[in-house]
Amino acid sequence: MRLNNQVLYRKWRPRRFSELAGQEHVTTVLQRALQQQRVAHAYLFCGPRGTGKTTSARVLARAINCLTPQGSEPDNQCAMCRNIDQGQALDLIEMDAASNRGIDEIRSLREKVHFAPAEGKYKVYIVDEAHMLTEAASNAFLKTLEEPPPHAIFVLCTTEPHKILPTIISRCQRLDFRRISTTVMVERLQFICQAENIEADPKVLEILARSAEGSLRDAETLLEQMIVSYGQTLELQHVQQSLGMTHSQTAKDLANYLVMGNIPAALGTIGRASRDGSDIQQIHRQSIELVRGLMLVLSGAGDTIDLDMDTLKEIEELSTKTTMRTVMACLKALAESRIHSDSIPSLQLEMAVMETAFTIIPDVNNSDKNGGTELPVGINSSQNTISTMAQPNQRVPAEHKSPPHKMAMPTSKHAEEPALMSVETESPTNPDNITGDLVPPETWNQVVQQLRRQKGKRFFLGALLKDCKAPYIENGAMVLPFNYRSNKERMEEELQELSSRQVIESALEQFLGSSYELRLTLRDGGSSGGMSASATSPLVRSARAMGGRVIEEKRLDE
Ligand SMILES: [Zn+2]
Repeated sequence: MRLNNQVLYRKWRPRRFSELAGQEHVTTVLQRALQQQRVAHAYLFCGPRGTGKTTSARVLARAINCLTPQGSEPDNQCAMCRNIDQGQALDLIEMDAASNRGIDEIRSLREKVHFAPAEGKYKVYIVDEAHMLTEAASNAFLKTLEEPPPHAIFVLCTTEPHKILPTIISRCQRLDFRRISTTVMVERLQFICQAENIEADPKVLEILARSAEGSLRDAETLLEQMIVSYGQTLELQHVQQSLGMTHSQTAKDLANYLVMGNIPAALGTIGRASRDGSDIQQIHRQSIELVRGLMLVLSGAGDTIDLDMDTLKEIEELSTKTTMRTVMACLKALAESRIHSDSIPSLQLEMAVMETAFTIIPDVNNSDKNGGTELPVGINSSQNTISTMAQPNQRVPAEHKSPPHKMAMPTSKHAEEPALMSVETESPTNPDNITGDLVPPETWNQVVQQLRRQKGKRFFLGALLKDCKAPYIENGAMVLPFNYRSNKERMEEELQELSSRQVIESALEQFLGSSYELRLTLRDGGSSGGMSASATSPLVRSARAMGGRVIEEKRLDE
């Protein structure tokens, strides 16, 4: 290994405010204070680990004692700066409250704090993990904070500010450090790689950054481990190996069985893994990653997946046998059962997006009876709707399926698993499609066709529903405006039967992607089919509005 004995994060630890990645909102405050010579006596640096709290404290210590500062930055050349760099500065006192949390350390601090600084203008105390101080120590420390000698500056660093005495917090100027974004981290890692002469695939750095979850120190440590293990050239497979991103067969089996709906086999896999003493949490996490991969492949975003080629191939293969609906159901169930859903920060959002797509956009594209069509869809970002990418006449038979990597959205072989949502934005005759209100006529025809030969208790359901010309969705319910009162009432009767309801529900689910509560109405101006007198009566109308039903109607002249 060509790295000298300094570890990366120490070697490349920022020595100027301008080098502190992603915390400009903090460094600006500190630099302004330095420029105006209004540095506070006590700071509280809060934020997740590895985001630059103690590093910033050290830069502050350097900047304030620097013999020849450059504006608000230390020069990092003078004797003071060099001493701090080498850990030999007498006026920089660092305390780790995690290991020195007692009253004795604080008493000693209180005694010495009154001595003037040995070399510089200020004595800077950095108390790391400040929330770890015992209560007695905190109270003793508070006394110091209440009457700080003019030459003393305290910087308390903590990941858990809520555990610090409010009386201490109120005496400090609080600055909150943020998790560092992946982009900022990748830039920083690139900088280090360049300086260290490391060749790394940009994807490698991105994966490292993402798995560090906002902690630059973690990302730098990971990078170092990679360099130690694999040398000067870092490839994708290296990072996958070292981060344990290769997926176990168990996780693959589980994901496979789940999306194929083989519940007994899925449970069996978990049971075996459990008996073998496998790490269930890891299997859980990996199966989420795999099913997420499926979701991305199915939605045409397969190139954003961080999986090894073999696994990616398996996922692409599997994607031709399942549907987005199934995948989403599995993913939702898997993700919700996670105790700590911290594995993929973007997952919740991605799922929310997909769920929204399911809920608001009805499925107008029907697979044909053999289920052999492919409906490529993509997200139309300009309209925030999902649109079909191909016209119906461009549908490709299943045998000629292109790799699902690009926009493939296979339909299911099972009737109860409909193809994913897609709205034909091309259709100019039906602008209502996009709002999701009106059920697209062609979809509705499919529902009617499907139910054509489905006999309810007394009638063919399709025949009754054929009477509704323009059903629409309103407040989560499907409103069915019947032309003829007689048909409406026949349907009301049918809907009292569970089996009829189920048949209709499953047809709606198949073609609209979701089932709805049905609300039957009469179309404005619709014919009452020979039972018209009651329709105009205010009394009957209000009775109906309260849920009443016309059972029999007699003409008065009869
Ligand atoms: Zn200096």
